[in-house]
Amino acid sequence: MIAQPKASHFVNGAYLEDTAGAVIEVTFPGTEEVIARLHEATPAVIEAAISGAVAAQRAWAAMKPVERSRILMRAVALIRERGAELALLETLDTGKPIQETEVADWPSGADALEYFAGLAPTLTGETMPLGGDFAYTIREPLGVCVGIGAWNYPSQIACWKAAPALSTGNAMVFKPSEVTPLGALKLAEIFIEAGMPAGIFNVVQGRGAAGAALATDPRIAKVSLTGSVPTGARVYQAAAAGMKHVTMELGGKSPLIVFEDADLESAVGAAMLGNFYSSGQICSNGTRVFVQKGVKAAFLKRLAERTAAIRAGDPRDGATQFGPLVNRAQFEKVMGYIATAKAEGARLIAGGAAGNEGPLFVQPTVFADVTDEMTLAREEVFGPVMAVLDFETEEEVIARANGTQFGLAAGVFTGDLARGHRVIGQLAAGTCWINAYNLTPVEMPFGAVKASGLGRENSRAAVEHYTQVKAVYVGLGPVDSPY
Ligand code: NDP
Repeated sequence: MIAQPKASHFVNGAYLEDTAGAVIEVTFPGTEEVIARLHEATPAVIEAAISGAVAAQRAWAAMKPVERSRILMRAVALIRERGAELALLETLDTGKPIQETEVADWPSGADALEYFAGLAPTLTGETMPLGGDFAYTIREPLGVCVGIGAWNYPSQIACWKAAPALSTGNAMVFKPSEVTPLGALKLAEIFIEAGMPAGIFNVVQGRGAAGAALATDPRIAKVSLTGSVPTGARVYQAAAAGMKHVTMELGGKSPLIVFEDADLESAVGAAMLGNFYSSGQICSNGTRVFVQKGVKAAFLKRLAERTAAIRAGDPRDGATQFGPLVNRAQFEKVMGYIATAKAEGARLIAGGAAGNEGPLFVQPTVFADVTDEMTLAREEVFGPVMAVLDFETEEEVIARANGTQFGLAAGVFTGDLARGHRVIGQLAAGTCWINAYNLTPVEMPFGAVKASGLGRENSRAAVEHYTQVKAVYVGLGPVDSPY
């Protein structure tokens, strides 16, 4: 099984190799087999990517918005035509089941490109009448933006960052996570095939040092990172030194609150989706499931039954619902959290051990009787480990749900819509759901408050983060000067 790309990087419209860079071994998490060998970007590769993007960006920004959009729409069509092939590559790169990658990863990326291709030509400035004189505004691109991705949704992240950036006239240098470097190269290839000028979307591989080199370069106007809170803090600090714009999509420990009057089957289904999809490796997961005491027993019973029926297996098999973790480091980290939860007295309801389907499988795991002080309720696991906590009153659960440094997402299940809105209104989270969980259509802003990040992806809101306003005062009469 080989998924070797033509070269490690994609710069100035073509694949580029520099074997002087340290080797990155890409493995298929289903078996830990090596499927590709890439090289980290050397300073020469990073220089070629940045200088190429700088050289190409002005002409791209000067094109009519509909001309840029036409190219992006051609890319959308190519992504959809090649859906099966791209889904398989994503599965090999991440280990996620093909039944997920066929519907979630690239399809969500294509939606983002389509949405921003449609939106960008509609963006206009404002005119301010000033009693004779007037002023107007122009929404301009920032210049060259850096995108840095996490490994859980590599191709979706590349598209979510490229779509608002490129449609509004920016160029981008994208660094995927070194764990999952393959999808972004395909995106770069597709853009060129769709007619995008060389240098507008570049991909360079590397670990944190490559990301840091990009984020600190003075020619870069903006850094958009999807990653952990500690990395976010480092990148934000580096960007601040150069007064760069930032978007930070970081980690979470989001609450999912189930009231007694909720539709329990839906609430159980949402809790499972929000903890087990992508083997739990999703930033917005509802990993603290607060269940009101009156329905606790019924909730746990159905949760245990439905969790036991999950089909884990080879991610390439269309019948598989649940795959491995992305690599050994993540596997060990998650197994460590399971051991800690047991040691701290959480009650195991389901799973709790490694799976036997491959080397990196962890069983879908549920702990009940979790308290706010336990490690499992405080730290992001990024694996298939659900913590169920009990609560009695609305007031109590709101305070406890907010008792965290994170603020990415939140969900409420209730039959009383007034309560749903009232509770969501008091939760400190950027992305919320009432009687749903983890749905992130491109029409809806996605982002965080508190330590989980800042800025928004998707929706009209993302345009604000990839453009800046130029204000122009136009004098129509003689200048009235006291001198
Ligand atoms: P990391 O924070 O470890 O890495 C994120 C990216 O930043 C990687 O490409 C990494 O490179 C790079 N990087 C690391 N150090 C630096 C640095 N000093 N300067 C610039 N770039 C750097 O996150 P993971 O890849 O482990 O992803 C998991 C995390 O991402 C979780 O916390 C999760 O919650 C979060 N996440 C957030 C999402 C959101 O939208 N809010 C969505 C998905 C994930 P490399 O890893 O190659 O060394």
